[in-house]
Amino acid sequence: MATIKILGTAGARFVVAKQLRSSAGTYIEHDGTRIVLDPGPGTLVAMAKQKPRLAVEKLSGIILTHAHLDHSNDVNILIDGLTEGGLKRRGVLFAPRECLQGESAVVLKYLRPYLKEIRILEAEKEYKLGNIPFRTSCRHYHTAETYGLVFKFGKKQVGFLVDTLFFPGLLKSYEGCDILILNVVRYKPHPSPNVQHLCLRDAEEILSKLRPEKAILTHFGMTMLQARPNQVASKLSRKLRLDVVAAYDGMSIEV
Ligand SMILES: [Zn+2]
Repeated sequence: MATIKILGTAGARFVVAKQLRSSAGTYIEHDGTRIVLDPGPGTLVAMAKQKPRLAVEKLSGIILTHAHLDHSNDVNILIDGLTEGGLKRRGVLFAPRECLQGESAVVLKYLRPYLKEIRILEAEKEYKLGNIPFRTSCRHYHTAETYGLVFKFGKKQVGFLVDTLFFPGLLKSYEGCDILILNVVRYKPHPSPNVQHLCLRDAEEILSKLRPEKAILTHFGMTMLQARPNQVASKLSRKLRLDVVAAYDGMSIEV
């Protein structure tokens, strides 16, 4: 059995800046392996405040889907915490190349040797972190090098369809997911093609084609919050005859 805890559900600049929803990442535990995915601002604090506390020093590793601040802000403090300030060399970090090299690198150089290993994520590859196998999606259309993830927990597959503009090629990467967690930042499409995020209409198209057992909407921007995610999700659920729910801060999912 796996436990997935969505610590934060904030998705865009204003929601993050005002902390209308928490911008903490997602905690995953399965078969003795503990992972934090996309540690946005407040992840360490949210972990410490869970009851019982989620122990940063017991993490097996961290995964970044891309370098944007709302997905990577706490990566450095988590590395420091999990290695006890470098006293214990442990933990594995998985991240796209852009998070580690070049102008957009987000992982501090002095912390890197504290980790047991750093693995570069590439499109459509298989990986394993401790006892959790996972694979990457095709490269997303986003303003940073971004890959979504599909985790395998026994026979169940859980997909994290993170930030991207919708494009039909996306669907193939998430086929076969039993549970699909989608970052739906916008309620309506944005007029500018530079805003590379899913809107509700995109989520509907994706879900109507993939038809997972359960879909969870998260990573909300202002327009989604104004539209009330719970109501939006139940309307979509009725329309598609699928189990669709809206995530809330601290939501736990057992797989
Ligand atoms: Zn992003």
